Amino acid sequence: MSEKDCIFCRIVRGEIPCARVYEDDAVLAFLDLGPVRPGHTLLVPKAHCATLLELPGDFGPALIAGLKKVGRAVMAATGATGFHVLQNNFSSAGQSVFHAHWHIIPREDGDGLNLWPQGAYPDSASMQETAAAIAAQL
Ligand code: AMP
Ligand code: ZN
Repeated sequence: MSEKDCIFCRIVRGEIPCARVYEDDAVLAFLDLGPVRPGHTLLVPKAHCATLLELPGDFGPALIAGLKKVGRAVMAATGATGFHVLQNNFSSAGQSVFHAHWHIIPREDGDGLNLWPQGAYPDSASMQETAAAIAAQL
């Protein structure tokens, strides 16, 4: 998708509305239209990139600063006592908008949400094999 048609680029350019919560030179944050919980906020780089893999290497400080600032504000405003930072890359991981973005989702004790259904490796050898396979790609 080109930057011209990208929905988040259009929001950054002000061509379509959003419920904006924060903006600086590098990032824009606005409420997700379909919140997992009220206050669910998206933080997007202002410059188009489709996934984390395309994000410039020097974007880290601006991203972390934005996530910390907005995460703190979302917790304070919603009364949450915790928050997730989640990011989906590629459609297999649930990415539906191909302009990289970070979900900031407020949480409270006992809110009943289970975003983290954990499994287990059958044994420690298979866990070590998996680690070795990933390390071999680096
Ligand atoms: P993902 O599945 O990680 O690509 O997340 C895309 C998110 O963008 C979804 O949670 C949508 O609800 C949200 N979304 C899509 N269009 C808009 C929009 N125009 N304004 C706010 N949020 C949006
Ligand atoms: Zn874009």
